[in-house]
Amino acid sequence: MLQKLLSRVCDDPSIHLEMANLHRRAYFDAQNRAGDKWRNGHWTCMHPECNDRAIGSHTLQKKNSLEAIADPTSRVVVSPRFDPAVGDRVGTNLSYENASVFPGFCEKHDRELFLHLEEMTGAPDPLATVLQCCRTFCRERLAQVHAFEASKNGYDRMVRDQHEAIGRRLEALSGLPLSTISGYTETERLQYRPDNLERIRHLASAQATFLNSFDKLAGSVGDFFCDRARPPHMFIKSWALSNCLDFALSGSDDIGLPGAPVPMFYFVMPRSGVTHLVAFCHIEDEAVLTNVLEEKEVYGLRPGDNGIALFRFFEQLMIDRTNHWFLRPSAWAALSDSGRQILVSEVNIHDRSLYGAGTKLFPSPEKLEVTRNVSWRPRPL
Ligand SMILES: [Zn+2]
Repeated sequence: MLQKLLSRVCDDPSIHLEMANLHRRAYFDAQNRAGDKWRNGHWTCMHPECNDRAIGSHTLQKKNSLEAIADPTSRVVVSPRFDPAVGDRVGTNLSYENASVFPGFCEKHDRELFLHLEEMTGAPDPLATVLQCCRTFCRERLAQVHAFEASKNGYDRMVRDQHEAIGRRLEALSGLPLSTISGYTETERLQYRPDNLERIRHLASAQATFLNSFDKLAGSVGDFFCDRARPPHMFIKSWALSNCLDFALSGSDDIGLPGAPVPMFYFVMPRSGVTHLVAFCHIEDEAVLTNVLEEKEVYGLRPGDNGIALFRFFEQLMIDRTNHWFLRPSAWAALSDSGRQILVSEVNIHDRSLYGAGTKLFPSPEKLEVTRNVSWRPRPL
């Protein structure tokens, strides 16, 4: 009897709309709650020997990087912002003071761990670069844990809501309480389009596998926080460009094979008259990252070379990959309507390949030159 009733429920055209609405509400509610937790929740310091409450730490430096691209009068930057009604939007009025904040460290560790980096003027030395890598890594790890929990909560809620909604329809059709419909068991989960749920579960498990692949680096970053004599097990490639670019960003990406993720991390720090760009990974993954950088024609760049390939690579990461980016308001204003539209729609597309040309949106800066290209492997700092 259950199967017959179920097929009648699924034949009713109104169920499709109801299920689509359930799906949307479950995910947006979960995202909304997650956003609130990210900003206002109780988070513990990421220093391995500390249990104090985390305050808002900047991933990218407030002074220098964010200030360098903020509008000089209004002091705002342009950045993706989550809107529960539509997904991510491009916000145009984020104060640079509040940009790039994440609940990473307690007040003491936020100050002590990164003091050298914060006091640095001019080109970052190896210690400052490693510290910024650690901060980027911690932010990405926390953001991935958080994103995974948010999508899991959304999924669980959707499965529960589907079960209840289908149960109500079965009861209305049969005139019987659900528990008395023959063929129904208490452990049964009533599902709408199980194949679709299976696909979502598969995506969540890929997300979890990617997150687990961060563990390899997490241990040595924690060791380094406890003891500066133990440098983190990173391979770091850092470049500098002769211009202050219009965007700052940080992010992580999977450069491995399906089922065998390899995380790459990156950031862009524009400063007055110069921009520092970095990509890094676990030292064991150096060959994989090198392949990507060679494919992008940035690995072997030398001082004096044209910096356009580097610019396009990080532009691709900004537009097609990470949503943790900040753009100079005048660069946003200079885009055509269609250019702005592309950026607005790309912030909700997360599955573009890292390979291939990427989305080119911004005009190439004039006289852009590579001024530095350095590789770093674990050694005393
Ligand atoms: Zn702490």
